[in-house]
Amino acid sequence: MPSISFLGTGSGFPNADRFFASSLLLLKEKHLLIDAGEPCVHSLRDRGTLIRDLDAILITHGHVDHIGGLPALLQGAMLLGRKKPLEIALPEEMISPIRAWIRALYLTEEGLGFSIAWLAWHDRESLSLGDGALFAKPFSNRHLEVCYRSLHTSDAVHPCNSYSLEIIADDFRAIFSGDLSSADDLAELVATPANVLVSELSHVGPKELATVLHEADIQALCLIHLSEDLANEATELRVKMEELLPKIADIFIPEDGEILDF
Ligand SMILES: [Zn+2]
Repeated sequence: MPSISFLGTGSGFPNADRFFASSLLLLKEKHLLIDAGEPCVHSLRDRGTLIRDLDAILITHGHVDHIGGLPALLQGAMLLGRKKPLEIALPEEMISPIRAWIRALYLTEEGLGFSIAWLAWHDRESLSLGDGALFAKPFSNRHLEVCYRSLHTSDAVHPCNSYSLEIIADDFRAIFSGDLSSADDLAELVATPANVLVSELSHVGPKELATVLHEADIQALCLIHLSEDLANEATELRVKMEELLPKIADIFIPEDGEILDF
């Protein structure tokens, strides 16, 4: 039975109640970690042998609240004696810097005790994961482009790609928004029926999101990565979204640690 465990539902703001972005999708007996915000290694440790059993890590983009927990997760897997190979899918531009970061932390990939397959996202090209049990397809969006524009930096920093993800196994289809530039980034993804959409709600507003989802055939909508003001009014937000989106059967605003079963 598919499920999503919400390990971290916070935004990029420090928050005592919500950790950084990280969700665990169980699908066809495969465990996928969607983003690896801190402190995902501790959250996974609470769930039995998952640090050893995790099949793949899917990184939507390189903002620290989505990837900052990765080195500690790799170190934790090493310390717990993981042997199982690990797939990590991420924006192509990040692979070399992330591997250098791991080396800078005195971790060597050779010394981890398990192999890592570094898989690059390419826009709208499906990756086969978990020994072919499921497929993940990235849809590039303009989230980082918009963020860098607002930085007013003269540095020659080239923003990496940012992706929304479609994950499919048999007839189950899940969508993870990642961070967005606007709700329109989701339009193509929600034009096809889905069992669940896990969407951020800090770079887009509730009404904007509802406009794109109004005709969508989606069973469950989970709202995470809420802006500070919305996070303080979660109950009101849920009522509002239920009014705006009467066709969606279930709308959830999960807390950290909550699990949604399908
Ligand atoms: Zn971001």
